[in-house]
Amino acid sequence: MADCIFCKVAAGEINATIVKRTPDMIAFRDIKPVAPTHVLVMPVQHLVAVRDATGDAGHLLLGKLLAFTAEVAGELGLDARGYRIVTNTGPDAGQSVDHLHFHLLGGRKMAWPPG
Ligand code: AMP
Repeated sequence: MADCIFCKVAAGEINATIVKRTPDMIAFRDIKPVAPTHVLVMPVQHLVAVRDATGDAGHLLLGKLLAFTAEVAGELGLDARGYRIVTNTGPDAGQSVDHLHFHLLGGRKMAWPPG
């Protein structure tokens, strides 16, 4: 999608620190990390949020995205202490980029409930 910054990251038009990439998924470092490990994991395909991943193809994509996120967590050494996977949807949750992505957060103790 033309004006989407994460589509531009996927296309290599905006620099990002890529952690792992497959033909349909990308994991890259958040530009403003809120934890020692803060990686964004997203599909290359432009979807705004989880609810837009519909039908068999959408559900397959969500499964792959979640499994890919867990794979990245393991490769970054987060399995032993644990981590959090978050996806913000809409203004109440504070979604600031309208391209479906998971935040993979780890490397410190986290509070619950989140703010
Ligand atoms: P959200 O607010 O949940 O939509 O998450 C968007 C995240 O993208 C924020 O944590 C931003 O810090 C991060 N972000 C925005 N632009 C970039 C970029 N060019 N490279 C890496 N992370 C970015």
